[in-house]
Amino acid sequence: MNLILFGPPAAGKGTQAKRLVESRGMVQLSTGDMLRAAIASGSDLGQTVKGIMERGELVTDEIVVALIEARLDEAEAAGGAIFDGFPRTVAQAQALDAMLARRGSTIDRVVRLKVDDEALKARVAQRYAEQGRPDDNPESFRVRLEAYNRQTAPLLPYYEGQGKLVEIDGMASIDAVAGAIDTVLADA
Ligand code: AMP
Repeated sequence: MNLILFGPPAAGKGTQAKRLVESRGMVQLSTGDMLRAAIASGSDLGQTVKGIMERGELVTDEIVVALIEARLDEAEAAGGAIFDGFPRTVAQAQALDAMLARRGSTIDRVVRLKVDDEALKARVAQRYAEQGRPDDNPESFRVRLEAYNRQTAPLLPYYEGQGKLVEIDGMASIDAVAGAIDTVLADA
C-alpha cells in the first residue's frame, strides 16, 4: 500500500503520517524532513537547499526525486510508503510513477486534506510562535502557499484522472481526520 498525503503546508500531513507509521508500520517519506536533516548535518546538499527553503520556494525536482529513490526499497520492504510533501510538481509525480513501476508497484491512494487558507495561516502563526521554524515566518509562508497553488495543486487533476484521489475535511479534529483516512485505506 502506497499512500500520498496531499495538501498545502500545515494541512496536517506530517501529523497523520506519523500516526500511520505507529498504527500500520508503514514508512513515512517526508522530503521536508529529509531536507531539514541535510541542513542540520551541514552537508553540501544542506547548504544548497537552506536559502531556498527559508524563502519558502521549492527545491529542484532532481534533488527530491533522488532523496525519495534512495528510500523506496526500504519502504516497499516495510509494506508501503506514506509520501508526505512529495510529489509537489507534475514532474515529481511522473518520476514517482516511473520509480514505482520499475519495482512492480504503484500509488494506491492520494488523500487530499482540505483546509482553507485562513485556518492554515492561523496554524502556522501559532507554530511559528511556538517552534520558530524559519519558513513559518509570514512572508515565507505566503511564498509556500503560492508555490502550493501554482506548482502543486495542478497534481490534483493528474491523480483524479488516475481515479486515486480522495478528499477529506482537514479542518476536522486530528482524530476525525485519522478516522477518515482509515476508512479510505480500508477500501483501498
Ligand atoms: P515541508 O516540510 O514538506 O513543508 O517542506 C519544507 C520545504 O522543503 C518546502 O517549502 C520546500 O522548500 C522543500 N521541499 C520539501 N519537499 C519538497 C518537494 N517535494 N519539492 C520541492 N521542494 C520541497
